[in-house]
Amino acid sequence: MAVKMKKILESLRVQPGKKIDLRNDYDPGCIGHFISKEDTEATTAAGIRLLAEQQDKLYAQNTYALLIILQAMDAAGKDSTIKHVMSGVNPQGVQVTSFKVPSAEELDHDYLRRCCVALPNRGNIGIFNRSYYEEVLVVRVHPEYLERQQLPPSLNDRHIWSRRFEEINNFEKYLTDNGIVVLKLFLNVSKEEQKKRFLVRVDEPDKNWKFSAADIHERTCWDGYMDAYEEMFNNTSTPYAPWYIIPADHKWFTRLAVVSAINETLDRLHLAFPEVTKEQKEALLVAKAEMERENAEAPGRKNKAVKKRGKKS
Ligand code: AMP
Ligand code: MG
Repeated sequence: MAVKMKKILESLRVQPGKKIDLRNDYDPGCIGHFISKEDTEATTAAGIRLLAEQQDKLYAQNTYALLIILQAMDAAGKDSTIKHVMSGVNPQGVQVTSFKVPSAEELDHDYLRRCCVALPNRGNIGIFNRSYYEEVLVVRVHPEYLERQQLPPSLNDRHIWSRRFEEINNFEKYLTDNGIVVLKLFLNVSKEEQKKRFLVRVDEPDKNWKFSAADIHERTCWDGYMDAYEEMFNNTSTPYAPWYIIPADHKWFTRLAVVSAINETLDRLHLAFPEVTKEQKEALLVAKAEMERENAEAPGRKNKAVKKRGKKS
């Protein structure tokens, strides 16, 4: 990966322990050293090809899993980023799960449970489109969601958020200690750009389905969300599961930054195709010799059998 891209990623990673100011330290319109969409196309395409190669090795090795957590305000581009960045990978090795308002059944369990059952298998990439982080975001901004969780009153106190941060950090440590690598991406869209995208969703009939009145209500809580996100970054960006704040006002830059962050994370795993032992290699050669003997002993036999079967039916 180019040194310049590495530097950009470094600046987007939330340093563990450092208190950040989301609104002043991170520009949603940032495009790094690039000047236009065309300027990034070749690099993004190369990143998508590299990701496909890395995924093949991840799958073949069947040792690690990669969990990518995507969080964002509405219209920041989570869905389209998944669609574009994952366009080159083998669908068999990817599991995407979207987390919505919890059902009555989900509320009858602890909040991590529905995410646990959706964790990626070894060898796979799992994408959480929203996640258990909603438990310290939307639930914090709208306390009525917390009321629905049927928690014992003594546990529903003002310390609940710091306890949840601790629980989430412990959970992610547990995952990484078990070979599930956690990469957390926040797509940082500005309030102005969100408005533009909402207006397009209203004006273009093919995009109407993406818009709901509830989205407007969430927009009115913008500052509350920014405060909750800031608290979340300051408490849950850890050395083993760091947050990246990805500029999201220019989708072409978002895609490049996301694919680069995924590739950098996979790169650290030094993935390689499994090597076979001497004995396994010998067994492969024996199998090959057997198949070659089949052809030499009965050339054309298979074809005749097929013709015979064809006549009968
Ligand atoms: P969308 O991603 O636009 O389809 O919307 C899903 C909605 O579900 C968002 O408004 C989220 O805030 C909401 N949501 C996701 N997880 C939770 C949760 N744990 N508690 C309450 N609301 C949630
Ligand atoms: Mg929505």
